[in-house]
Amino acid sequence: MKSIISFKKIVVATALAVSCVSNAQNGGKFKVCLDAGHGNQDFGASYHGYVEKQINLAIILKLGTILEKDPSVDVIYTRKNDTFIELVERANIANRNKANIFVSVHCNANKNTEAYGSETYVMGLSKSASSLAVAKKENEVIKLEENYKTKYAGYNPNAPESLISATIAQEEYLDQSIELASRIQDNFDNKVNRKNRGVHQAPFMVLHKAFMPRVLVETGFISNPAEGAYLNSEEGQENMAKAIADAIFRMKAEYFGGNVPVLDIKKSEKPMPKDSTPKLKDVELPVKEAPKSVPVKPTVSSVDTTKVVFKIQLKASNVKIENKPENFNGLDEISSVFEAGYHKYLFGQTNSYEASKKLLAEAKSKGFESAFIVPFRNGVKISLNEAVKSSK
Ligand SMILES: [Zn+2]
Repeated sequence: MKSIISFKKIVVATALAVSCVSNAQNGGKFKVCLDAGHGNQDFGASYHGYVEKQINLAIILKLGTILEKDPSVDVIYTRKNDTFIELVERANIANRNKANIFVSVHCNANKNTEAYGSETYVMGLSKSASSLAVAKKENEVIKLEENYKTKYAGYNPNAPESLISATIAQEEYLDQSIELASRIQDNFDNKVNRKNRGVHQAPFMVLHKAFMPRVLVETGFISNPAEGAYLNSEEGQENMAKAIADAIFRMKAEYFGGNVPVLDIKKSEKPMPKDSTPKLKDVELPVKEAPKSVPVKPTVSSVDTTKVVFKIQLKASNVKIENKPENFNGLDEISSVFEAGYHKYLFGQTNSYEASKKLLAEAKSKGFESAFIVPFRNGVKISLNEAVKSSK
């Protein structure tokens, strides 16, 4: 009986998450809430004359301008100028406006000025000291708010993990948050040529309070002179904005319909200063892989369906497509699921997360650039995080 209940819970959670992004209640518009981190007396990080609050706002305004060109997108800003908005209010702006997704933009900084690269966070618990340090730094701004101790009762800014114990997990939006985060990191890596530090989970207050798929982007380290200069430049801001916009348009196309406009994203010269900072250890989430070996595709019979099964989602469509190779650029072993009005087409299946990354590379090489890994347990979609943990 117990297992039936949890099974049902997973089904409901998945349906909720999908309906959130795909619902067309917002006057047929896809609502994106954009959050430029910090503002006014809260400067965020500041190094070499580069000020985080200014860079965040510049990127957000450029990103918003790109998104607004699509009449089916409605952009909501938490701030459009140099003002101080409390963390909980940023999330509430997204909640009140029934945003389909929430994107918070920040810049990273480290005493070690060699550190560089982009990383994107989704809400969750982290055991990694480096991820917790980033969350702690970003959450600390609540100390500038009046009555923060009453307002954020139960939360200790010096221990960001206290955020999790104070609440129930918000698992239902995790899949799509990870999907958006992965697309953003993928674009930073492949389209803008930045160092990809991966997708991570950490307890950010601003993400904790928002109830929709949501991510926090650390665009790069302004403490690194080369990366700071890039992020502070018109060109750098423009390309980072386009990379995030492309990821948002792809999410919208998948769950909400519409086209992905072609954005002219320019590759930067990859900053290659000596970087001796240890790589974050909690890279349990999908990171862009570039396997050079020929992908080995497992056969159907090699899959144990009592274990977690990884498949590759190629695309979603509101019309039914026959599951045959010629309809999928020659890829075979196509299956489909019907969810929230969309047929989702999946390629391959394997019990191994490592093997699924090879399948993903194969799908991408066949032109399914925005394909991603979807894990199932007992035929029900589960989060990648959970899947990777249980398949170890
Ligand atoms: Zn910040």
